[in-house]
Amino acid sequence: MKRKIAVIAELSGKKIKPITFELLSMAQKIHRWEPSRISLFIVGDKIDKLSRCISADTGYDVYAVNTPGHVKYNGSVFKKVLTSLFTKETFDYICAPHSTSGMDYAPALSIALQAECITGVEDVFFEEKKLCIVRSMFGGKLSAKFIKGTTPLVMTLQPGSFKPCPDPKKIKIENTKTGKLTSLIYKTDENKMRFKGTEISAGKGSDLGKADVIVSGGRGIGERENYEYIEMLAKLFPRSATAASRPICDYGWVIYHKQVGMTGAIVSPKLYIACGISGASQHVDGIRDSKFIVAINTDPEAPVFQIADICVVDDAIEFIKLFVEKFKKNSPNS
Ligand SMILES: Cc1cc2nc3c(=O)[nH]c(=O)nc-3n(C[C@H](O)[C@H](O)[C@H](O)COP(=O)(O)OP(=O)(O)OC[C@H]3O[C@@H](n4cnc5c(N)ncnc54)[C@H](O)[C@@H]3O)c2cc1C
Repeated sequence: MKRKIAVIAELSGKKIKPITFELLSMAQKIHRWEPSRISLFIVGDKIDKLSRCISADTGYDVYAVNTPGHVKYNGSVFKKVLTSLFTKETFDYICAPHSTSGMDYAPALSIALQAECITGVEDVFFEEKKLCIVRSMFGGKLSAKFIKGTTPLVMTLQPGSFKPCPDPKKIKIENTKTGKLTSLIYKTDENKMRFKGTEISAGKGSDLGKADVIVSGGRGIGERENYEYIEMLAKLFPRSATAASRPICDYGWVIYHKQVGMTGAIVSPKLYIACGISGASQHVDGIRDSKFIVAINTDPEAPVFQIADICVVDDAIEFIKLFVEKFKKNSPNS
């Protein structure tokens, strides 16, 4: 019997975001082992035209779920609409992006459907004919493997985990001529949450692209308050900026604009100073083009030292304090 996979698209205005194509790649990987019917759900205001194009281009069955009046993501509408859809028609796997909105609606949807939920999925594979799901735990220290229990199973996919297909035409499933388009309208007076607008945080935009020197902090800085030493070090250099590895953005110590790496900014400064950063491949992906890299890490075996031009084996904060002190002492203006 064929499995049924629902992929929930992520939109930016009237455009499909690349994570949607990563989700379809994951669905296809499952399909290769467990033959499945993959359906794409596009939820938004007036999305029939877009849905028609996607279904024609990809060959997937597309559900155009029109929510009149809700142009922007609205959590309470999304949860209500998706719960109603997946109660009427059951799917084995419901795949959503691990984005701000996906993280908002997916767990709520799983509760409403009494389904299992695995967030931040990084890979799926089959072992002894069972679907296994991989995600990081303890802030990336461990990689956990889950074996699928009951269905439906709700999953959110970590962006960057699967290669998105740049050309949607290439993901056309064999033997599928054109996808079936189902247009639905969900009128809802749901008003628990109302979209008021977006604005860029004042003075908090990313200046990473323009900086000659980037000082970046990772989990090794120990605590939020220590990020001020990263800022202090950056201030010694003209045209400098501060950055961060993903975990400390996830902790909320630093805004996401500053995240460097595969799912953050790709930078190429003249000098990149990595403080308390291990050098995981996903971080290194974002700093490879830096002209000169200095890494400060207490672990002499830290992978970051393999790409660093200068390796400092020391406590990052103690080193910065000493460096700043010496710099100021030797500075002509002191
Ligand atoms: C799909 C996917 C996408 C990802 N995208 C990104 C991304 O874009 N950017 C990103 O950064 N990560 C990303 N990650 C996460 C990545 O895998 C790592 O978990 C992350 O980069 C680790 O961050 P870190 O080096 O700060 O922390 P850790 O790996 O915990 O390293 C901390 C380091 O600090 C050192 N340390 C400890 N104490 C001190 C001290 N007192 N002084 C100096 N050093 C000390 C330790 O020896 C260790 O090497 C992604 C992961 C996945 C699965």
